Formats: sequence, structure tokens, C-alpha cells
Amino acid sequence: MVEKNCWLGQKNGRRALWPFALLVSGIVLSGMLGAAGMVSAPAAGSRLQSMRVDGYFDPKQNFLDATARLRFSGPAGARQLWLANELQLRWVRGGSMTVEPFASETGLFVVHCPPENVLEFSYSGRLASKPDPFDPSPKQGTPGESDDLRFLSYITDYYPHPQLDFASMEMNMRIPSGWNCLGSGTLRAVQAAGGGNLYSFANSEAKGMSLVCGRFQQLARLPGTVPILLHGWAGFDYRRCYSDVGISRLISFYQERFGALGVPELNILFRRGKNFGGISYSGLIVLNVDDDWTRLQSRTSSNPGAASLLALDNAWNDLMAHELAHQWWGGLVSWETVADNWITEGLATYSSLLFLKECRGEKAFTRVLRRFRNDVKRYAGLGVPADGSKLKLLHRDIRIYQALVYAKPALMLAALADTIGEAELCGRLRGFLADRRGRNVGTAEFLERLSAGDDALRLRLEKWISARGLPEGL
Ligand SMILES: [Zn+2]
Repeated sequence: MVEKNCWLGQKNGRRALWPFALLVSGIVLSGMLGAAGMVSAPAAGSRLQSMRVDGYFDPKQNFLDATARLRFSGPAGARQLWLANELQLRWVRGGSMTVEPFASETGLFVVHCPPENVLEFSYSGRLASKPDPFDPSPKQGTPGESDDLRFLSYITDYYPHPQLDFASMEMNMRIPSGWNCLGSGTLRAVQAAGGGNLYSFANSEAKGMSLVCGRFQQLARLPGTVPILLHGWAGFDYRRCYSDVGISRLISFYQERFGALGVPELNILFRRGKNFGGISYSGLIVLNVDDDWTRLQSRTSSNPGAASLLALDNAWNDLMAHELAHQWWGGLVSWETVADNWITEGLATYSSLLFLKECRGEKAFTRVLRRFRNDVKRYAGLGVPADGSKLKLLHRDIRIYQALVYAKPALMLAALADTIGEAELCGRLRGFLADRRGRNVGTAEFLERLSAGDDALRLRLEKWISARGLPEGL
């Protein structure tokens, strides 16, 4: 999923498309549902620098009451924010805030920042119920079999929703007692307040904040360079699907190849869910778990629609490996527009392939690559990786999107590793992360970095991403 992670906005045009998750069942759910409207152009060069939200959220009622303080860098001028229509704006300090007339039904506000570039406002209301990111589609699984988690996710409904710049984020949210709460970023403190608990999270460099509330509890703490806290429903024995050693090995494996993650701890929340999927926020991963996922791995299944392209070898481990990879690819760098979404999904998929090879050997790795080639060949005439989440709208088959945005770029990276060596490829990726940390990156920039000054190689890589069909190699 999501990762995380996909927003769009045409950078300089008057027509803006804004990111909202297109929550389509599948392993990775973040995408962009554009709500198009003619809106005032944002001030050129203006970026969100920091956002702090102090508030109260009642998960049962989906009621939010908060104050937001935003600081922008760059010249003063118009900025755009989303605030759900159900939220009533109580007051604004600094600047002015108007509902954009052409897009008022979508809750888009145009903010005119004062010269000091700080804006504060208060709002409250009961949010409309959003689809659960993991709610199975009618074709997959049975509704009502997943845990009752409530999300305020920067991908869908965390308000205010600013542009998707990386920025310093802070969230202080009071939650009624009886609910547990995890948020993206680092948990700074939990303290009793007003009949509930006040949770304080911070993230110095993130695309947005998210929180998830539910009746879960902490199950275990795995020590390591990045300690991992595991959470789930009472009585859930996560060791039926995962091993402590395997989880720790996975995070070490990625750190060795891509560099330090740089978070003080990582929270992983298991939830019951038939849908093969997960979501990855900075410092927080939510994974569906289902006992029956062996069916996902069977290509001879009597119900081929139930199979997932991304269940490679062991569905539970594959999902964990994919979502954990998004902590780097999506968490440390992200994509610029929907046409660049393949970068984070392709890299998360390729990363999970590398880990598969590490654990299961060359033979299993080659078998999955062969399967990927067949999957991509089947759909390669229908679009290209650079089509991004448009593929989900054009074709109502998640496998087409996964084959072109996940599997094809992963095959490209495997072909590149064959050409330049896997260690060299990982070195280039590690260098790229170090240089571009906290940035949104585009296809041209990424391919240039991958090809390291070799123009002929860059052109061949571009063909993988922008042309239909499946190249034989590089
Ligand atoms: Zn993903």
C-alpha cells in the first residue's frame, strides 16, 4: 500500500489534482484520486515547513475537534488546504481563509498567508465515514471480518490536508479511554487527560501524519538498532505467521542495503483482515493477517481472482517485506506525481524480492521473476508504469495495476542488477536515499541517478517505464 505515498499535483498549472488515497484492494493501497477543480495557483516556491495539530478525536463518533498551526516557507501568497466539509471552521488567525468556489463541495480551501507565513485555525465536526483502507472489495473476502480500526490517515482524511511537501509534523491528540492509539512518527508522550489519554507524536521529516485507533494491545518488543513494537488483538499469536528472528533479520537486511532508517522505533500493528494488504506510514505499519492466505500463493487456484501477484512465496512474509521496504521507499523519499508512483512501489517490490532471495535462495528468486515476466507480458499492452494509479481507474482489475506499477519496475531493477551488479545497484539506491531524503522525486531524476551518467542505459530504462511491452533485458 500505501504508502503510502502517492500524491499528485500538477506542479505549476492552474488546474490542481490533489492526492487522496484510491483505496483499491491489493497489497499497496496508496494512490491518488484526483479531485479536479480550477483553483488559484499556489504561491511559487512556497512550501509547508511545519504543521502542528492539537486536538481531540473520538473514534466511535468519528468526531474531530482540533487546532492546526502551519508555517510555510517562501513568499507569502495563496496556499491550498483540504478541510472536510463536515468540519466547521471556528476561527482563523493570521492570513485569511476562503472556500474555493469552484471546488467548495470537495472541502478545498484557499489560504492567503500573511507575510510571516504562519497560519492558525480551529475546526470541529463529525467526519463522514471513510472506507476502511483494508475493507475487502466484494470480490475479495467477506466484509465484516476485519478489526474495527479507525484511521485518520494523511492519505485520506487527516485534516487539515496541506500540500504533500515533506515537513516537520507534530500531533497531540486526546483519545477517549478504552481506545489504544498509534501514530506515525515518534511517540513522545502519553498522559491522562480529560477522561482519556493525550498522545503526542512528532516527525521531523514526513509527508503527513496519521493515526490509528482500536482495541489492540502491545504484544512484544523486539530489540535491535531499530526496536520493533508489535501490536495486535488480545490473544493473537503473531508467531504463527512470523518469527522474531525473521522480522529482525528483515530490517537489518534493508538497513545494510539502503542505509539507516533513522527512526527511534517502529510500530507494527497486526489486524484481522481477509484482504491481502497493508499500509506503511513513517514509523508505523499496519498489516492484515489471515490464516487462509495460502490460497493467495496458489496459481492453480480454482478462483484465480483470489490470487495475488504480490504473494511471492510466503504471503505473510511477502506482505511484511513489502510494507517494511516502504519505510525507505515512501517514508524517506516519495514520489512527485502519480506518474512517479512506480518508483516507491517498484522498489518496495524489488526489495521484497531481494529478501526472498536471501531467505529462500536463487531458485525461488528465479521462479518469482519468471512468474512476474508472465504476469507483465499478459498486461504490458494495456499501459505503462508511468500511467500510475490511472490504471486502476481505466481497468477494473487490480492485477493490471500491480503488474505494471509493481512487477514491471521490479523486473527492470532485476535486469539492471544483472547488468551492473546487485551491490552496485544497492549502492546507487543508498546514495540516492542519502541525497534526496525528505524529498519527492520524479521519474527523470530517479532514472538519471540509476544510470549514473550512462545515457544509453538511461534511455533503455526509460523504455521500461514509458513504453508498452516487456523488454527482454537491458
Ligand atoms: Zn506498496
